[in-house]
Amino acid sequence: MNRIGVTPEMVSRVIPVDPFDLVIFGGTGDLARRKILPALFRRFCAGQMPDDSRIIGAARSEMSESEYRDLVRDALAEFGKKHAEDKHAVEAFLKHLHYVAVDAMGDGGWKEMKALLRDEEGLVRAFYFSVGPSLFGPLAEQLRENGLADRETRIVVEKPFGHDLESARSLNEELAQHFYEDQIYRIDHYLGKETVQNLMAVRFGNMLFEPLWNAQYVDHIQITVAETVGVGGRGSYYDHSGAMRDMVQNHLMQLLCLIAMEPPAQFEADAVRDEKLKVIRALDPVDPDQIVRGQYTSDGSMPSYREDAENPTSKTESFIALKCYISNWRWANTPFYLRTGKRLSARASEIAVVFKETPHSIFGIDSGRHRNVLSIRLQPDEGMTLGVTIKEPGPGGMRLVDVPLDMSFADALGPDAEEVTDAYERLIMDVIRGNQTLFMRGDEVEAAWAWTDPLIEGWERRGDSPKPYDAGSGGPDDAAFLINRDGRRWRGIKI
Ligand code: NAP
Repeated sequence: MNRIGVTPEMVSRVIPVDPFDLVIFGGTGDLARRKILPALFRRFCAGQMPDDSRIIGAARSEMSESEYRDLVRDALAEFGKKHAEDKHAVEAFLKHLHYVAVDAMGDGGWKEMKALLRDEEGLVRAFYFSVGPSLFGPLAEQLRENGLADRETRIVVEKPFGHDLESARSLNEELAQHFYEDQIYRIDHYLGKETVQNLMAVRFGNMLFEPLWNAQYVDHIQITVAETVGVGGRGSYYDHSGAMRDMVQNHLMQLLCLIAMEPPAQFEADAVRDEKLKVIRALDPVDPDQIVRGQYTSDGSMPSYREDAENPTSKTESFIALKCYISNWRWANTPFYLRTGKRLSARASEIAVVFKETPHSIFGIDSGRHRNVLSIRLQPDEGMTLGVTIKEPGPGGMRLVDVPLDMSFADALGPDAEEVTDAYERLIMDVIRGNQTLFMRGDEVEAAWAWTDPLIEGWERRGDSPKPYDAGSGGPDDAAFLINRDGRRWRGIKI
């Protein structure tokens, strides 16, 4: 047992799922190789995948089953982490794999797919759409028309879910022609992170925080998702998207919802999603002067954003910082500062709840001013820290110092830290369990676009250009000004 009482047994406790047939459309693609298949392999190694479960890769390319297994073997060697060193485990996992060549837009392959799938009582059937978003609608239709889906079948839809409100609405409508909402699992992998769920445990499992979790005691909240990578490789896709669509509308919005929502009556999918939806609908429109957009320049060794995007006149933002408010009793006048960007100085994601100062200091001005901060880190090392103020040890009077109460998982688990379940592992197993709590509902996605669209339309109408910022920096100077002019500072997380 480690110092906060977590045992490796607690970490690896496995609740078995029903046997399943999981078809991965795009089973040869980047996401399948890097995330989905390694996640399934790790659940297999954990003993969570029943023996009679099958994973069926599907894509247009013709290949035999053994060629597909070779492809997956290579993917596991590259992305499977320490479990992939166990050759017996890899070979045992590969026996669960099958492959069908099928074109989402064509006729070929559907009969073969149907012949392969089993119709058995208690067997879960799920289709993971790990393909470009233009194929989501056609795939849903093909599944129905070819008799591959019934009322129990589940579909998993990757991001991006729409480009704006109109496209998200029509995608929702397209899917709704063939599937009920309780069959559709829209992935936002941020929701599958251990820390994000721990945030709900900390908020709603303790008496300590919830009474303070409001405008009266919280000064402000910061949400940061900083990346060191640029957009190289997917520059042309990203150039039609930008940080607002790619990160804020989905990931940062979801984190904001979990921080700001009212306690749901139960930890149940629709109860949680109803509360998240209320937060999005209570978001005020954002003034243009509360938004800073940036675009990275070249540092000599790495290309600039415009070079990565192969668009010398691009006005797309690779960085955004904004201040927003939620108009409800709990959060009235409490600023939420959001920032995210690429090619920054560090890879770090954090939600920080910054509490107000004590109303009166009994220690005099020399003891400094202190604030409690609850820091919820999503990467690189998932965990939580609560900053508390104590007396600096030793003689010499009453000097105050801030110390962290650390709930870092890596520290807590020691060598078993790698056992912390990856977001995709948890989310895929939730699909098999039929638990939609950590997936976005259609109306949530539409509400998020309804808030985002006018902001984007505003800067497009004005023809605003993003501010250049140095690669490897903390973003444009204006982002610091956005918060400094309120007498606050971004949290120092080396960006
Ligand atoms: P990718 O590497 O381009 O792979 C696309 C896959 O789809 C390939 O297996 C491709 O194989 C298959 N495919 C393409 N057209 C098809 C068709 N008409 N019928 C059947 N299969 C078809 O793309 P990806 O990066 O894996 O991304 C997949 C989805 O996940 C996208 O929606 C993306 O936005 C999303 N996503 C990706 C990441 C990531 O890190 N990669 C992260 C988040 C979300 P064939 O060419 O052989 O058909």
